[in-house]
Amino acid sequence: MRIMQNLDKIVALSKNRGFIYPGSEIYGGLANTWDFGPLGVELKNNIKREWWKFFVRENRNSIGMDGGILMNPMVWKASGHVDTFQDPLMDCKDCKHRSRVDKLIEESGTWKDTKKRPEELSLPEMEKFVFDNKIKCPACGKVNWTGIRFFKLMFSTDRGVTEANLNTIYLRPETAQSQFVNFQNLQRSSRLKVPFGVGQIGKAFRNEITPGNFIFRTVEFEQMEYQLFCKEEESMKWYDIYKKKAHEFYTKRLGITDRNIRFADHDNLAHYAKAAVDAEYLFPFGWGEIGGTHHRGIFDLGNHQRDSKKTMEYKEEGQDPFVPTVIESSHGLDRILLATLVDAYNEEEVAPGDTRVLMKLKPSIAPYTVAVLPLQKRGLTDKSHELFDTLSKNFSVSYDETGSIGKRYRRQDEIGTPLCLTVDYETLEDNSVTIRDRDTMKQERIRISDLIDFINRNIV
Ligand code: ATP
Repeated sequence: MRIMQNLDKIVALSKNRGFIYPGSEIYGGLANTWDFGPLGVELKNNIKREWWKFFVRENRNSIGMDGGILMNPMVWKASGHVDTFQDPLMDCKDCKHRSRVDKLIEESGTWKDTKKRPEELSLPEMEKFVFDNKIKCPACGKVNWTGIRFFKLMFSTDRGVTEANLNTIYLRPETAQSQFVNFQNLQRSSRLKVPFGVGQIGKAFRNEITPGNFIFRTVEFEQMEYQLFCKEEESMKWYDIYKKKAHEFYTKRLGITDRNIRFADHDNLAHYAKAAVDAEYLFPFGWGEIGGTHHRGIFDLGNHQRDSKKTMEYKEEGQDPFVPTVIESSHGLDRILLATLVDAYNEEEVAPGDTRVLMKLKPSIAPYTVAVLPLQKRGLTDKSHELFDTLSKNFSVSYDETGSIGKRYRRQDEIGTPLCLTVDYETLEDNSVTIRDRDTMKQERIRISDLIDFINRNIV
């Protein structure tokens, strides 16, 4: 049975088993930063690989790119980030705790308007709502707020040889701008015709100061963003296709439970947009955005054309040149990874009084596909190493020879390894191993020569 566990269990398991550690822990940490351990990096890479296959490789009209984190500051002026990328904040005068006001309203449970979301309120409306509803400080419970003010979300740094020659540059707060500023390079070098799309996976940075709910809100995170360039008249068709694609990616490719995903349409749209929707996952702390599909009109390409004075028009023989409309499919890798962990976590009673922790990750994204477990160290090590060496050329393999076999199975269940192979003394005679299925715990004997086929069939 899937239980609605609290986040603490996931945080503890992540640290103990090597998915995610607190950032700079030995120095007391750094707020909203985390490091991915051996299992975390495998899971992350598997999610990225699935995304890349689904959004880039499996489509004839798709290509990928990998842009730089640092870009000319003009990019962020044109995109609107320099002037508008900021959070509304209020400080508690008593305990000095700082809160992001739209989140404060949302999390207070006092917001009832289903047409508008808290972040769609104007600043005076937000401030009035907090004062009128006497919303309490989440840290100390008092009601003693400062007025509302903005806090810049972009990290900036200085570039220059001497102090007089300093230039402010920014760590990118989103990956998407690389696709926009490279639009002509991408189109000309690939010779793709509109509609075509460009995917990118990379780091983004935001100066988030509100508490992060583990890796949900961090200052450094990875985005997987896909920009489709199309004709305006076909744009809503593509918007619907990419909204559905996002759903298929979460549920079919990553195996996230359908009922834990919902799509929330934006009612108040940016002036350039025709539609926008957030994909949300039901985390232990409530619904939280993991991605979005956005109709961006010609806002981005148009702004870069205006500021760079370089054309962003697309030309095709016999047609008037035009600036393509953009449909964006944006996904937060760290939040999706957290959703896969929360979704997969199970506590299962296998016998009266005997409960196992089972991470029921989709086999194709599990950190290890298979574990090689020699029944005893004596006499079985060479054969087990040989098996590890063969399988690790095709799969991600864990090797564990310490503790009882039962404990070793449980350790693999806890990190989501779909298949365990036990090498025993019979293996030396008949070249077969016992294979155990994570979910059913059923065991069967299989010839080593059939293993690769068997594993391939079982990790879809
Ligand atoms: P939020 O309202 O939660 O701050 P956002 O609407 O600003 O998010 P976008 O700008 O649409 O987010 O970014 C695209 C995706 O990047 C989000 O759906 C989310 O998955 C991810 N993301 C954004 N900010 C963060 C963050 N601070 N930490 C981790 N992931 C993030």
